[in-house]
Amino acid sequence: MRYARVIVGMNNPQTDRVFDYHIPEVFRDEAKEGVRVIVPFGRKNTKTEGYILSLAYESEIPPDKLKDILEILDDGKPIFTPQMLHLAQWMKENYFCTLSQCLQAIMPTGIKTKSIWQVALNENADISACKGGEMAVLEALKEMGNTVDLSELEKVLGSAGKYAVRQLQKKKILLLKQKMIRSEYKMEQRFYSINEGSSMWEEVLKKAEVDKRLLGQRKLLQLLKEKGEVSLEEIKKSGISESPLKTLLKKGVLSERRNQRKREVFSLEDYERTMPFYPTEEQRKALEEIEHQMNLEKKKPILLHGITGSGKTEIYMQSIAKILAMGKQAVVLVPEISLTPQMMERFISRFGDVVSITHSRLSPGERLDQWKKARDGEISVMIGPRSALFMPFTDLGMIIIDEVHDNSYISDITPKYDVREAAKMLAEDTGALLLMGSATPDLVSYHKARQGEYLLLELKERTGGGALPRMEIIDMCKELEEGNRSAFSGVLQEEIGRALEKGQQTMLFLNRRGFATFVSCRSCGHVMRCPECGISYTYHAKEEVLMCHYCGKTVESPRNCPACGSKYIRYFGTGPQKIEEEAKRLFPKANILRMDLDTTTGKNSHNQILEAFRNGQADILVGTQMIAKGHDFPNVTLVGIMAADTSLNTGSFYASENTFQLITQAGGRAGRTDDRGKVYIQTYQPKHYCITHAAEQNYKGFYEEEILLREMMGYPPFGAFCSVVISGEDGGETARAADVLGGILQAENRENNFFIMGPVPAMLFKFRGEYRQRILIQGPEENALVQFVVECVGKGEHNVGKGIHFQLTRNPLNIV
Ligand code: ADP
Ligand code: ZN
Ligand code: ZN
Repeated sequence: MRYARVIVGMNNPQTDRVFDYHIPEVFRDEAKEGVRVIVPFGRKNTKTEGYILSLAYESEIPPDKLKDILEILDDGKPIFTPQMLHLAQWMKENYFCTLSQCLQAIMPTGIKTKSIWQVALNENADISACKGGEMAVLEALKEMGNTVDLSELEKVLGSAGKYAVRQLQKKKILLLKQKMIRSEYKMEQRFYSINEGSSMWEEVLKKAEVDKRLLGQRKLLQLLKEKGEVSLEEIKKSGISESPLKTLLKKGVLSERRNQRKREVFSLEDYERTMPFYPTEEQRKALEEIEHQMNLEKKKPILLHGITGSGKTEIYMQSIAKILAMGKQAVVLVPEISLTPQMMERFISRFGDVVSITHSRLSPGERLDQWKKARDGEISVMIGPRSALFMPFTDLGMIIIDEVHDNSYISDITPKYDVREAAKMLAEDTGALLLMGSATPDLVSYHKARQGEYLLLELKERTGGGALPRMEIIDMCKELEEGNRSAFSGVLQEEIGRALEKGQQTMLFLNRRGFATFVSCRSCGHVMRCPECGISYTYHAKEEVLMCHYCGKTVESPRNCPACGSKYIRYFGTGPQKIEEEAKRLFPKANILRMDLDTTTGKNSHNQILEAFRNGQADILVGTQMIAKGHDFPNVTLVGIMAADTSLNTGSFYASENTFQLITQAGGRAGRTDDRGKVYIQTYQPKHYCITHAAEQNYKGFYEEEILLREMMGYPPFGAFCSVVISGEDGGETARAADVLGGILQAENRENNFFIMGPVPAMLFKFRGEYRQRILIQGPEENALVQFVVECVGKGEHNVGKGIHFQLTRNPLNIV
């Protein structure tokens, strides 16, 4: 085929379509679907990275207008499988972004080409007419070495220089050259040997033996003569520098061989092989159902609901073994935070080097090599967070999503995709089975399972028969009444003291999420809420008002509790640091570790803190939800959830669901081994259904109540939200644009199918130099809602200035 449909790697919506290119004769074999290329783009034929979406026999573009593909990258090996191209297309349509953004999210890290512009002096130009500013540019250029990066030059010259550079370029005194930089993180080993085809080497050696200046060459030739082929490292180790090597290579005396190796991210010797467990009765039943689905033509996604320690991971592993026996591959998605060494160990010990792992703590080169192993068929199982879904497997048999409720499955950068939705789409596309597991499934997934859209499998017992920890609710209003103003209830203080005496460990959780500050009464626990939306108000300190971030309703902040009249209104949850300080005061002899955003900025600080705690280097670990997931701490017998209310009142309808998950998970940390642990849940709302069910570890009870509320309010799964953030550098113009869009939405909402809230100033009103307004639209059916909003935004874009951006998000986790 002679033509390629290419998408260029730019994130501009205007260029987000395919462009036809002619394939030169020499590239006909290599130009394939999914291959990365360099093409000339735009009026100036700027060299740009692109991706071939498809090939064609014909093009509608007249032949004289068609440009040639300049280069084929990656030796013509596609970086996108057909399935991944398809998935990218789907993501573009579902997450309001460009195809090129989706392709870049899918493609492996570490192989992007970068282009830089260099400036050089045109030797033949006449510079006699150049004046002040222009002369300054020419002088700087001379000093910096005649060919320099444009950005460097502009940095040296400042903004005045920019103009002069442009003028000089117009006069053709300066030439602009584009240089492509390819940053592929290859790990190459180089080997050298004497070129047998050339008889020169003996002559060269003779000369080197008598000339002292050629000592390096002599040593090198002697080494190669003796050993045959020698690696670069070995040559260097023998004290020979690279310069004789280069000289002899140039002369053709030596030949070079390059060997690309893929980096290993673990060493097999560190792991002992383990065998599968004999499944328990519950596990056996689940495995049977899973195997049955595997063999069906049309497979139903499976939701595996099983309490912590019920053997879900074992089921994943035994299912994977079946997939491998069928000659297929599997992907296991886990939240980044729970991809612990213990978790990795279980898979590696079971499957050896057919598994690999990818995560953000690996270097780009390491990650790229794991991707290549998948492409080249060297591995069959990939474990990792979101991006593990994008492995170029050829025959994907199963996608597993562990802890399927986890919010980290939604990308927080563009494209803001939900990997669970993407996995479902990919599973349908490839015929793979989708298996999702959790102790606390998200409400939407569980609802789908109840409705029969997913197959629901349940595990109700811990494999070891171990009991769940005992959970107790502590009413903090009562504590206050009794004169205890500390963040630690009396019981918790006593229990911590007891654990310290016994040499046992304690974990203290404090869930602070997002930016929301809620207002509640410490005497009766009453939380100030929007009467329309049922969402807790957010406190805005500057204006001293309370605001509902869904509908924008604003009220004055009360001095006394509207429910009981008490003056103990409190404005924000305590931070982990305050808890740590108070714990230090109460237990001066205890070793205390803290883990939150402030203490985990370093690359590996996260794991270091957890490992230190695991190794018993501290008695108490204070932390945010970060410490709740996936880790096994055998010596923890006591868990304190300091203020369950902080996560209950985040100003989002997900709050109850997230709190239930947090408490259940935190509870799972206590008493994982025989010693039955204790969990204390401190709260100002001890009767809240979310707290009471969590304390009983009663997921179904919680689900039944929460789902009623959702139905009443039309919240997902009974309806959907779409948020539009309107942003721009000018505050006034942004507000006007938001009003324009608001007007269009209202006008188009003829049948009143949709509920339009706002525009209101966004929670992050000013962010990265832009002002932000937000409109939230609610509707009973997701697709119809999205279509409506997309159409209105399309109209809005025609009616506002150029500097205004609209950003759409489906069912946003946080309304910001
Ligand atoms: P989950 O993933 O649901 O938390 P795991 O798969 O981690 O549960 O199982 C909990 C513990 O029980 C693990 O230590 C695991 O090795 C062990 N286990 C799992 N299945 C069995 C089994 N059939 N027999 C004995 N032990 C098992
Ligand atoms: Zn009150
Ligand atoms: Zn409201």
